[in-house]
Amino acid sequence: MARFIFITGGVVSSLGKGLMAASLGALLQARGYRVRIRKFDPYLNVDPGTMSPYQHGEVYVTDDGAETDLDLGHYERFTGVASRQSDNITSGRIYQQIITRERRGDYLGATVQVIPHVTDAIKSFALAETDDLDFVLCEIGGTVGDIESLPFIEAIRQLKNELGRGNSISIHVTLVPFIAAAGELKTKPTQHSVRELASLGVQPDVLVCRSERPLPEGEKAKIALFCNVPKEAVISALDAKSIYAVPLQYHGEGLDAEVLKAFGLPVGAAPDLGRWDDIVDRIVNPEGEVTVGVVGKYVGLPDAYKSLNEALVHGGIANRVKVNIRWIDAELFEQADSDIAASLEPLNAILVPGAFGERGAEGKIASIRFARERRVPYFGICFGMQMACVEAARNLAGIAGASSTEFGPTPEPVVGLITEWMGSDGLEKREQGGDLGGTMRLGAYQAKLAGNSHVAGIYGAGEISERHRHRYEVNTAYKERLEETGLAFTGMSPDGALPEIVERPEHPWFVGVQFHPELKSKPFAPHPLFASFIEAAVRQSRLV
Ligand code: GLN
Repeated sequence: MARFIFITGGVVSSLGKGLMAASLGALLQARGYRVRIRKFDPYLNVDPGTMSPYQHGEVYVTDDGAETDLDLGHYERFTGVASRQSDNITSGRIYQQIITRERRGDYLGATVQVIPHVTDAIKSFALAETDDLDFVLCEIGGTVGDIESLPFIEAIRQLKNELGRGNSISIHVTLVPFIAAAGELKTKPTQHSVRELASLGVQPDVLVCRSERPLPEGEKAKIALFCNVPKEAVISALDAKSIYAVPLQYHGEGLDAEVLKAFGLPVGAAPDLGRWDDIVDRIVNPEGEVTVGVVGKYVGLPDAYKSLNEALVHGGIANRVKVNIRWIDAELFEQADSDIAASLEPLNAILVPGAFGERGAEGKIASIRFARERRVPYFGICFGMQMACVEAARNLAGIAGASSTEFGPTPEPVVGLITEWMGSDGLEKREQGGDLGGTMRLGAYQAKLAGNSHVAGIYGAGEISERHRHRYEVNTAYKERLEETGLAFTGMSPDGALPEIVERPEHPWFVGVQFHPELKSKPFAPHPLFASFIEAAVRQSRLV
């Protein structure tokens, strides 16, 4: 039977609980255990799919087409275990299920309540599909004390009891602030937070204390005394020089050993963390640097492009270079007095990422034109591929009105809404003007690559599977006219109906993909497209 690790946070949000869970998962894996990490989100949205990236950061998409919390991206990048729909649940989804059942009469007249109905649903979510695992790490979003998280904490309390002694532990992540005026680290917020958690019936076994300065032994002892945990189980967690140094840092502080001890398991020999040493070495000791411009829409909030940011870092790891990312607001290039060349000339490569809506589209099209004409490496992801096709149609094929139906009716729908496509389970359909939630082509789809194309060489494969999240597609009615502009359609859906990849064979590096390769990149296995894109940026940097 799998053992369960429940992870809660206290004092403030943004303490890096997700990164802690991901790092602990990686450390347990390095010790030979099979792990899976799950996220419980207490908010009432059914999934984060319809939430603004400004509010919630990026939406992370799984192979099985779930729109999930971005923490699942951390989990997957650190453990290499592909996330699934069953790894992320929200209060909204739980209530939706319960209310659907109630309307069907499944409860046979019973009063439907938070305890036991909501808590039972949370527990069965935690326990589902865990037979082949050694450890299930369950991270509860939010902060202890939030109204929304109460049913989750209650479900943990019940589960700890039901799973029996030795089969579950709880880790609480808190903040130990440094008060400059007093010159001291303060443990009181941690004490209060643990007391709050304990008052809900959950006594933590391990405390992870985030602080700006190392926790002195005396402070650890004080926290241990007041919070009822062994002193060695008070783990000090400082900011790291790279997120990929976090597993090494936690191991150095004894986190994985304390977790095993809390389960009563032998700690044994130190795990081989050579993979992480190598990654950190490549990040800390680069042999050069390149600057990539990301011309996007949500550039004010780096979390909105979390996986993209990481995939670019991974491309740097693959080439042993530092990747400086310049986030550029596409709308700046739509102003009459903007000097687009001056902004883009210092860049070694240009990327237009995924996006929804018309805002900034013209600025992106102008950037793509610059990259094409100046022979600067260009990578278009999803919207960035669609706009590369619109750019070619307008500026090379003479189709002045070329546009996407996403922006409204157009006589030249180079990008248009597709209402039917072949999924792995047969024909999938959607309606014009349907609901926004759950109406996209989502999750993993296969693509066939043209034999001697650049991308087939990059992937070293003829058939690939990548994750999608979009409504619109490049319209194959324009394929021939676009091909005449030098744009090659080198990746297509297996039935040949949907363009998946376009490239310019005559350009140093110009690739547009309808999917999101950034979602599958890992520090120890950089995605081939990102590795190749950064390699092209390095070549470009040597030309100037
Ligand atoms: N808005 C475009 C579509 O829905 C692109 C989506 C994306 O870039 N993820 O097809």
